[in-house]
Amino acid sequence: MPLNENQDSDVPKSHPRYLSLKYRHTIIEGMRNLIVAEAGLIAHGRGECFDYILGEQTSQSAKNAVKAAVAALIIADKPVISVNGNVAALVPEELVNLSKLLDIPLEINLFYRKEGRIEAIENVLKNAGATDIKGVNEETMIELEGLESNRRKVDFIGKADVVMVPLEDGDRTEALKKLNKKVIAVDLNPLSRTALWADITIVDNIIRVVPLMIEIAKELKKLKKKSLEKILDDFDNKKNILDSLDLIIKYIQQQKVDAFKILK
Ligand code: ATP
Ligand code: MG
Repeated sequence: MPLNENQDSDVPKSHPRYLSLKYRHTIIEGMRNLIVAEAGLIAHGRGECFDYILGEQTSQSAKNAVKAAVAALIIADKPVISVNGNVAALVPEELVNLSKLLDIPLEINLFYRKEGRIEAIENVLKNAGATDIKGVNEETMIELEGLESNRRKVDFIGKADVVMVPLEDGDRTEALKKLNKKVIAVDLNPLSRTALWADITIVDNIIRVVPLMIEIAKELKKLKKKSLEKILDDFDNKKNILDSLDLIIKYIQQQKVDAFKILK
């Protein structure tokens, strides 16, 4: 049966993999509507695999990284959130809410450019209520040095001091770091080059991360700059990544005990 718009509602909520299937269909629909690139489907699958061995839940180390990320975004002079097709398809409303809550622009920044994709993503964000969208006007764009992919073209990211890059490619994270930007990554793979290059690496699913960021932003907005700086000083990204790896190791070790029990 071909997939159609209604198929996610065909998956019963009681299905043990309901959420995973629902987001799979969201991504496929996104591809049909030009929002997601074909390669975005594969990137999503890689993410799913890591989510699986992280227990499909937000860990304490991811929560700590989210707190540090929100503090960094509030303290920043010129923060920006980079948006690609997968993120626009999965969490458009949440992303726009976060951007408005913290008064941070969204910049559409794609690896795979195709006729009509920027417009499709712009429309999704506008429909979700976005008013400040960068990366849509070629005339104001500059090129990042040392990068050959399409992602070298940036708009406000070129001027920003803190850049949040959900589901980013390692080459561009490296290029942003070389330009002395503070990079916040959301990446389910704690060993990707992006995860390792970033200053703050949130090892969790973007679907859970953005709502949590909104919740934490409401709290941290009330704090003084000094308290926010302390949150950042206390955060250790290397330890955070190592803790995420330990979680994966523990999860797999536990599965050696539990995996066959579900058959009984
Ligand atoms: P890198 O270039 O940083 O070394 P990569 O080449 O392995 O990474 P890319 O395709 O460049 O992978 O980036 C996509 C990344 O996004 C992958 O690491 C994947 O695990 C992650 N990812 C995919 N879906 C999600 C999601 N929903 N939430 C968080 N991360 C995700
Ligand atoms: Mg890559």
